[in-house]
Amino acid sequence: MKVKILQIINESPRVKRFILAPLSGEFDAFLAGQFVVLENENWEYPNKNRSYSISSVINNPRELELCVALNEKGVFTPWLFSLIVGDVLECSQPQGKFILKEDEQSLKLPHLFIATGTGIAPFLSMINEVLKKSQNKVYLVYGNRFEQDILYKTYFEMLSVENEKFNFLPILSREYKPNIAEGYVHASYKIILESIEDARIYVCGWKEMCADTRNELKAMGFNRRQYFFEQYD
Ligand SMILES: Cc1cc2nc3c(=O)[nH]c(=O)nc-3n(C[C@H](O)[C@H](O)[C@H](O)COP(=O)(O)OP(=O)(O)OC[C@H]3O[C@@H](n4cnc5c(N)ncnc54)[C@H](O)[C@@H]3O)c2cc1C
Repeated sequence: MKVKILQIINESPRVKRFILAPLSGEFDAFLAGQFVVLENENWEYPNKNRSYSISSVINNPRELELCVALNEKGVFTPWLFSLIVGDVLECSQPQGKFILKEDEQSLKLPHLFIATGTGIAPFLSMINEVLKKSQNKVYLVYGNRFEQDILYKTYFEMLSVENEKFNFLPILSREYKPNIAEGYVHASYKIILESIEDARIYVCGWKEMCADTRNELKAMGFNRRQYFFEQYD
């Protein structure tokens, strides 16, 4: 379907939030965690499509938000970042299987979300859903290099104040800031999981972080019924 760019928000030096609206018709309702596929119909490269997780918190059939990092060495994101409000592009309906397990047993358990960078995108809606449906604790372990890279920081800080079940744990690998943990995500989620027998664990981001996290979780004795991955390449 054809969509128009309604708004562009500079979320960090390398990340923009794109608010898209259908030119006609509506977006199908998305399941928390799903993505859409954008297309550049007019260029000469063989692969004209890229997938982007939906970063909207809730369903709105007239609007959908994406949160995209510029990859200077890539081809699609430099084009996307050159677009302006009012431009039109091709966008699929929501799709994808990286969604919450909502069976009775899963909703009783603590939930742990692990992300780096734009891997946070699907977790906005997933965390909103799970906080509504589960009585147990919800942890978000979110790694970035610098404080300015932490996407949706104010939103998650407010959510942790408003909802006592929600624990927001940002981590910085290249900068020291008071009250923010230093290092990589692994040390932080290991501390949480050491005190928990069973959990539902969702991991999203680039290949290397996903691969390392999978190995760590396996080594801790967790299995594929307990953890779920969305890898960005
Ligand atoms: C399910 C899913 C959800 C995703 N969600 C998001 C999201 O929410 N936000 C987000 O930012 N990303 C997301 N991604 C990643 C996104 O789809 C793109 O891969 C990303 O935006 C990079 O696109 P690009 O065209 O700029 O880079 P690409 O052109 O795909 O390039 C990727 C890399 O390939 C190499 N390369 C490309 N072209 C050349 C060339 N001509 N010569 C040599 N090397 C080259 C470069 O090293 C480059 O760094 C998601 C991916 C998936 C699969």
